[in-house]
Amino acid sequence: MNDCIFCKIAAGKIPSGIFYEDDDVIAFHDIKPAAPVHFLIVPKEHVATLADCGEKHAALLGKMALLAPKLAQEQGCGYRSGAGGDRTGGFRTIFNTGPDSGQEVYHLHMHVIGGPPPWRAGAAPQG
Ligand code: AMP
Ligand code: ZN
Repeated sequence: MNDCIFCKIAAGKIPSGIFYEDDDVIAFHDIKPAAPVHFLIVPKEHVATLADCGEKHAALLGKMALLAPKLAQEQGCGYRSGAGGDRTGGFRTIFNTGPDSGQEVYHLHMHVIGGPPPWRAGAAPQG
């Protein structure tokens, strides 16, 4: 898509500080972070939303989901569970889909948001 900002980033036409790339996806930090760690996992293929995905995207979505904890670990917001049952760290994974969700960029992406509070209101976990 010619006018899609994430397609331009994936094509290297806009600098974004990509810190992970493979044949299918890229990851880079969100320009307006909602928390100490906030990055996006973005497929190279243009798909507008999660609702536009079909069976043929199952492997891609699986790859994105499996990358989230790995990259979160590398970026400093990994989740750890100890042998004694103690749990530390962690992150949120969010796919905004459509106007009611606040989706701004209509190119599929997973937000990975973590790190120590405070987080921006709205991004922070409730309760
Ligand atoms: P969403 O509301 O789920 O569509 O989120 C899109 C996200 O992309 C927002 O959090 C923006 O801050 C982020 N964003 C937009 N343009 C850029 C860019 N050039 N580089 C990094 N992040 C961006
Ligand atoms: Zn695109």
